Amino acid sequence: MLLLEEEKRKLVESLWSKGIKDENVLKAIYDIPREKFISNALRKFAYDDNALPIECAQTISQPFTVAFMTQTLEVKPGDKILEIGTGSGYQAAVLNRLGADVYSVERIEKLYENALSLLSELDYKVNLKLDDGTLGWEENAPYDKIIVTAGAPDVPQHLLEQLITGGKLVIPVGDQDMQRLLVVTKTDAGIEKKYYDKFKFVPLIGEEGWKS
Ligand code: SAM
Repeated sequence: MLLLEEEKRKLVESLWSKGIKDENVLKAIYDIPREKFISNALRKFAYDDNALPIECAQTISQPFTVAFMTQTLEVKPGDKILEIGTGSGYQAAVLNRLGADVYSVERIEKLYENALSLLSELDYKVNLKLDDGTLGWEENAPYDKIIVTAGAPDVPQHLLEQLITGGKLVIPVGDQDMQRLLVVTKTDAGIEKKYYDKFKFVPLIGEEGWKS
């Protein structure tokens, strides 16, 4: 137990030194039991700052990536946030821990089922849907923030349409080997874009993503 606390503390310190200065994000990462979102065999690596494999050839993102994307979104309690790519459910738990009203879409049934049962067992309040998230989640739109946790060829138009004016969308954009993290702010005048270099995600597959 003490060992776990020490590992969490080291991870949070390392995230701080890499530029994560939002105390609420660091606290959420410290508080959430990442070891529960991965297989038993990998639990000893839970607080390493690395992406790890989950079922169905997908990944739980690197803690730095989760923290960076979350910090970029400037999450406030009560924000309505759409996540595309539920995966293990970890990013959704971080957003909910920050007080957001979270909607998350996953295209792989097994991962959707796993996340549904784990998030409810850990008492995170997250709305989950099994679908192609490149189309968003229209019934609950618009969203204050949107986060896409798989690499896309471009920003899906459906997601831009489901974002409020003044809202932010963060998405990795590039080819299937490497992406840049794009932060889009939707304004009355159009959209503003800011890029951050070198991230690697599994592909966003769907109607407005990669075809396979
Ligand atoms: N956010 C996740 C977490 O915290 O564990 C990590 C996500 S993993 C890097 C990317 C996820 O996006 C995978 O689970 C993959 O199945 C999912 N995905 C890919 N294309 C998708 C789509 N069109 N709609 C919904 N989910 C998709």
